[in-house]
Amino acid sequence: MSGSLFEDASQKLEKALKYSAMSEDAIERLKYPKSSVNVSIPVRMDDGSLKVFQGYRVRYDDTRGPTKGGIRYYPTVSMDEVQSLAFWMTFKCAALGLPFGGAKGGITLNPKELSKFELERLSRSYIDALADFIGPDLDIPAPDVYTNPMIMGWMMDQYSMIHRRITPAVVTGKPISMGGSLGRDAATAMGAFNVMEALLPKFNIVRSNTTVAVQGFGNAGANIAEMLFQAGYKVVALGDSQGAIYSKDGLDVPSVRQFKESTRRVKAVYCEGSVCNLVDHEEISNEALLELDVDILIPAALENQITEANAADIKAKFIFEVANGPVNFAGDEILNQKGIHVFPDILVNAGGVTVSYFEWVQNRMGFYWTLDEVNSRLKQKMVEESERIWTLSQEKEISLRTAAYVHALNRLGEAVSARGTKAYFIERV
Ligand code: NAD
Repeated sequence: MSGSLFEDASQKLEKALKYSAMSEDAIERLKYPKSSVNVSIPVRMDDGSLKVFQGYRVRYDDTRGPTKGGIRYYPTVSMDEVQSLAFWMTFKCAALGLPFGGAKGGITLNPKELSKFELERLSRSYIDALADFIGPDLDIPAPDVYTNPMIMGWMMDQYSMIHRRITPAVVTGKPISMGGSLGRDAATAMGAFNVMEALLPKFNIVRSNTTVAVQGFGNAGANIAEMLFQAGYKVVALGDSQGAIYSKDGLDVPSVRQFKESTRRVKAVYCEGSVCNLVDHEEISNEALLELDVDILIPAALENQITEANAADIKAKFIFEVANGPVNFAGDEILNQKGIHVFPDILVNAGGVTVSYFEWVQNRMGFYWTLDEVNSRLKQKMVEESERIWTLSQEKEISLRTAAYVHALNRLGEAVSARGTKAYFIERV
């Protein structure tokens, strides 16, 4: 793989541009991020020393509204990665018709090496550095890899202290008791499940015969694996950063999850009450999980998992991108040639930002919805936009990924044109 993640991400957009009627002005605007901030975050460590971490926040485009996007804590976080994730958020919000632009943030670190006290000081210090760049009408962060509701709560708290006003709408994915929305924790997976249930019947898929492998067993991965298991799909492989497990007869996902919660390890177990026993399985690598002969593969960990290096060896018939950017441009081309159906990240994992939007709306109204209300509004949105993207892909004979980008581009183009186009200004002169 060559070039930066952002160059790779831009190629997917280039491919879609020829199918959209976007003006040159709009295309020019979308080539560059609106603003990128690089901050140094000083943290007093538990041993008394001072350590300075590098943090980032990129607001890619705000043509359609305040920018929105998660914050990632991970050792490989870089400006290139954050900019690419902000770019994807722009298209995701537009594809779903949410009144937001795209942003993303991150800090380069391994959060597993910090104590809870250090994590709190780091999270608050990050907001000290960014307090002038975020806000409910400006830029609204949310959780991403290795960040969680408690971290979002600290961030909201810190912003509120700086501005001397309780401001729940500045961050989403907060604990419920601090203004979080019911259903936000499982929203990314629930949205992906809605997309699967809307689009898989077009391929005559019968749940009980359908095998699934899921890479990543965190918020998104564990929830989607469990939803599919409960719906009757056969989940045969699961994996996290430590490795993966495979059982051709299927895994009992709630048991695996219960075991992981108490031991932090993914093991093939069957639990009755609090007693868990190992069941027949194979331990495999994360790379081997991706290449299993399954019906559905769900990458739900990190970007660039399927590239030109392994795409030819992928055997799944359907790939649902729950992670952001798990398939790079060259990998995508190979999968297309092989006839593998790839359901793109900007649609599949958009349930997270959709319920984040609901959380922001509820915070601003000061009126909170029931879980049923949240889930039924989410389902309506996911199914509606899935159908639109599906129809576009059929009409134009393009991949679902290209169709999702075209759909987003059309909405972005409209918002740019609403402010005047070259043709409009020239006609008036
Ligand atoms: P998480 O931190 O809850 O979980 C990440 C999982 O990935 C963990 O199980 C971890 O062990 C695993 N992992 C880490 N490195 C790995 C590696 N090298 N190989 C295999 N597995 C590895 O994060 P999450 O919120 O579930 O996010 C996962 C993906 O979903 C990311 O791409 C994220 O951007 C995307 N996403 C998340 C949300 C959300 O609301 N949380 C929304 C949209 C998209």
